[in-house]
Amino acid sequence: MAEMNTKAMYKLSYGLYVCTAAKDGKMNGCIINTAIQAASSPALITIAVSKENLTHDMIMETGRCNISVITQDANFELFRHFGYASGRDKEKFGDDLPKTSYKLAGNGIPYITEETNAYFSLKVKQTADLGSHTVFICEPEAMEILSDGISCTYEYYQSNIKPKPEKVGTAPNGKTIWRCTICGYEYEGDDLPDDFICPICKHGKPDFEKITV
Ligand code: FE
Repeated sequence: MAEMNTKAMYKLSYGLYVCTAAKDGKMNGCIINTAIQAASSPALITIAVSKENLTHDMIMETGRCNISVITQDANFELFRHFGYASGRDKEKFGDDLPKTSYKLAGNGIPYITEETNAYFSLKVKQTADLGSHTVFICEPEAMEILSDGISCTYEYYQSNIKPKPEKVGTAPNGKTIWRCTICGYEYEGDDLPDDFICPICKHGKPDFEKITV
């Protein structure tokens, strides 16, 4: 039998990017951790985007997107804004996103100018259906350096940017904890109210798991 220790997956390293798209006047974006220069001649960049993201469908339909490279000085708010809600439920380029934090590239798609160090405008050449995700094989149509900030890796995000679960202290045996499966926030109490919203990531009760200690 071959070993199948899935924790080996955690040894792979990733960067973090805001992937943006636009269609029919609507602008949208999500966080992805896969953007790779896959070939040099011609220069090709591959990205993998979850089919659950509205951005995925917009790239499928338009064949265009931008990638903004997130830096280590990024705040959790950037990840929460683009990564913790779907563009189906929330206007990502609405009033709660400062107008100074993005610009429109030549392709009419926004790119993020704050807490980033570069952006690419990509044109899709090929796609590959990988089940949960689609891989887009893209040709860069534009690329520019935005700052000298250090690119943020997924590991750096986990260790330094993502809020740590708040300790509930020494819950005696029999106490019940509800843990947010999105961000790790813990709520102590026998019942979690149906309308409870996670104070960190703003997800609701369906994203909490009940733990009895
Ligand atoms: Fe949460």
